[in-house]
Amino acid sequence: MPDRSRLPERPDEASLGLGTAASFEVQPTFERFSQRDDIFCRSFWDPEIRSESTDRFYATYRDVLANWRTVDGFTQRDYALRNASWHVTDVFAERREEEDRREGYLDELTALRDAPAEQAEFESPAAAATEIKRVAKLFGADLVGITDYDERWLYSHKYSRVRESPKPNEQPGGLSHVIVVAKAMDHGLIATVPSALSGTATGWGYSEDTLTLLALSQYIRNLGYQAVPNLNDTALAIPLAIKAGLGEYGKLGLVITPEFGPRVRFGKIFTDLPMTLDAPRSFGVREFCDQCNLCVRECPVGAIPAGDPSDVTYNRSNIVGVKKWTVDAEKCFGFWERQNSDCSICIRVCPYNKGWPGWLFTAWRRLAGSPLRRVALWLDRALGGGRRRTASSWWKGN
Ligand code: SF4
Ligand code: SF4
Repeated sequence: MPDRSRLPERPDEASLGLGTAASFEVQPTFERFSQRDDIFCRSFWDPEIRSESTDRFYATYRDVLANWRTVDGFTQRDYALRNASWHVTDVFAERREEEDRREGYLDELTALRDAPAEQAEFESPAAAATEIKRVAKLFGADLVGITDYDERWLYSHKYSRVRESPKPNEQPGGLSHVIVVAKAMDHGLIATVPSALSGTATGWGYSEDTLTLLALSQYIRNLGYQAVPNLNDTALAIPLAIKAGLGEYGKLGLVITPEFGPRVRFGKIFTDLPMTLDAPRSFGVREFCDQCNLCVRECPVGAIPAGDPSDVTYNRSNIVGVKKWTVDAEKCFGFWERQNSDCSICIRVCPYNKGWPGWLFTAWRRLAGSPLRRVALWLDRALGGGRRRTASSWWKGN
């Protein structure tokens, strides 16, 4: 048996195929990441992270609403909407909790019917890819990409909330492909960050992803193929999304898609259905980030370092052996706790997060990907990019 926690690097994919623009490079020191070290899991078992404010933070999502304030963006109505947006995801997370499963967060989604024995045939892997993408969009995906099943990006272990310890991450044999879907989050809600209201964009992004993943997985199963849908559980979404050609890695530690910038939520489906693979793509994000640094300056706790990609790690919540821009998740989560809601300031201020009409955004993106990127940056600021909007103005529909 190979050591599953330390698979050999694939020389042909050290930079995920991004060539000289690579900002996510696998190093020889690479180690698979255990979900136990994810900052959200650590907030349950690690005394360095867990505190009274951690419990209060989670209580605002789970218990009968009690911790709202009178501050704009943090009122009962703001929390009521945010928590309602997570409801679909939570229903699936809680349905098998007594079996030590939190589906969508810590374990794969399993609300699926059995598959027939016969497999439907496709004319070619290209035809299968086209059909799957069409169906994914019918079921709500805004973006879809396909990559190979790459165990490097599966968690070395999942996390048991009941035992507060690692548990095996076992997948069926024969999986060969990963379908990555993305759902765009609401631009107007993200514009209100920091606020509890803005968390509605996150929650609804996950809830919509859950429905898309389940419906698309059932379709694949009905065709006689395996389908393992997973949301934040089981595998790291970022490298799979980059490999599937959905976007380029940005300094804020997220994938920047050409269509929606970093304002997306990802889900994945593992399958054995043969399909043509997509390739990673570069559209100038690496060079633009070098000039921009807006997320670095605007992060309220300095969690996003300036500078070049490196393999430095700040704490155990960072993956080992990948040269990239790395965010200090402890600082980031500390801010979430203190404000009693998740934060997306870095997403709001990123110039690739635009609510502009398609043609205007396409023109701006071309400029941003050219040697005139400083002009693109200036234009973004001059036209009010990333400006905060009040939650009360969102409620009034302004
Ligand atoms: S989410 Fe907020 S606290 Fe975290 S890195 Fe982004 S701006 Fe900083
Ligand atoms: S805000 Fe600027 S530096 Fe940060 S990810 Fe977006 S483009 Fe890159």
